[in-house]
Amino acid sequence: MPNNILTIAEHRDGALKKVSYELLGEATRLAAKLGGSAEAALLGQGIEGLAASLAQYGAQKIYLADDPVLERYSPETYAQVVAELARRTQPVAIFLSASTWGKDLGPRIAAKLWVGLASDCTRLELEGDRLLITRPIFAGKIIAQARLKGTPQMATLRPNLFPPLDPDPSRSPSIEKFPVDVPTPRAVTVDVIPEAGGKLDVAEAEIIVSGGRGMKGPENYKILEELAEALGGAVGASRAAVDAGWRPHADQVGQTGKTVTPTLYIACGISGAIQHLAGMKTAKYIVAINKDREIPLFKLADYGIVGDLFEIVPLITQEVKKLKQEG
Ligand SMILES: Cc1cc2nc3c(=O)[nH]c(=O)nc-3n(C[C@H](O)[C@H](O)[C@H](O)COP(=O)(O)OP(=O)(O)OC[C@H]3O[C@@H](n4cnc5c(N)ncnc54)[C@H](O)[C@@H]3O)c2cc1C
Repeated sequence: MPNNILTIAEHRDGALKKVSYELLGEATRLAAKLGGSAEAALLGQGIEGLAASLAQYGAQKIYLADDPVLERYSPETYAQVVAELARRTQPVAIFLSASTWGKDLGPRIAAKLWVGLASDCTRLELEGDRLLITRPIFAGKIIAQARLKGTPQMATLRPNLFPPLDPDPSRSPSIEKFPVDVPTPRAVTVDVIPEAGGKLDVAEAEIIVSGGRGMKGPENYKILEELAEALGGAVGASRAAVDAGWRPHADQVGQTGKTVTPTLYIACGISGAIQHLAGMKTAKYIVAINKDREIPLFKLADYGIVGDLFEIVPLITQEVKKLKQEG
């Protein structure tokens, strides 16, 4: 049996999520060492068109489960289909994204296959022919290494951390249609209402401007929105700001919010409690703006600005706009 690694492609509104390519990049790297190949499962309805770009990003084979019953995500149905696919194709490992979607779906598949799952992995290596998995636990206080018993070895991979392959347009997809034979699910999603404005999700943003209790009220987030817009990023929040009702929970970064790995994270009026750091410490560059020079976040930040955010943030926005105008 070849040592293939199966990735579960994540897509929304007819477009693949970037993390789907990241999963394939990592699966390709590891499968090459194991003498196997990277494969992708694509579930949904009317999604065959997405297969081409999965192939370009490294999927040697794409299992296509295209069926009306899969039109909207249902954890029950999706887990059944992937578990059945895994039983038939016997991959050595299955990778999903550590996004909200992957965190919901992954454990259900693992339970059906009666195997373990390592969540939110930040590094994967091989020890012989088995995975050695690195993942933060206890809100990032400990970096643990895990080995999984059983096969397939299941892992969710933190988005924005694993590099995708360069796309190769000459690669055409090898598609195998996978028949969907599942009972009617007990719960059905009847509608999905997108958030007004179609704003960029913090979990996917390359640049995040985040605000905490230091913002003093919901109306003041306007200055963060202006900076985020100038930079082409998203606005995030600490739990203190979300609990105060200033921002929606979808924007919360941290242990009980989203885990983000942007290139740039600008924290404004956020002290850097361990639970907040758990969600953003793997950002490539961290900038903290705070009037208190003793905050824990300054120990982690690449750049620290001590001062009043209400003066500093508009100045940065102004400079960014100026630089953009200059070309
Ligand atoms: C189980 C559990 C889970 C949790 N999960 C999360 C989570 O997911 N995410 C999260 O964020 N927190 C989480 N928390 C809460 C966390 O412990 C902190 O309470 C929270 O992160 C604090 O938010 P903050 O930094 O915005 O507020 P504070 O700690 O109050 O910091 C506000 C900062 O603003 C600065 N400031 C004020 N005015 C200005 C100004 N004008 N200019 C510049 N700086 C200014 C202050 O100096 C201060 O440092 C969790 C806690 C628990 C117990």
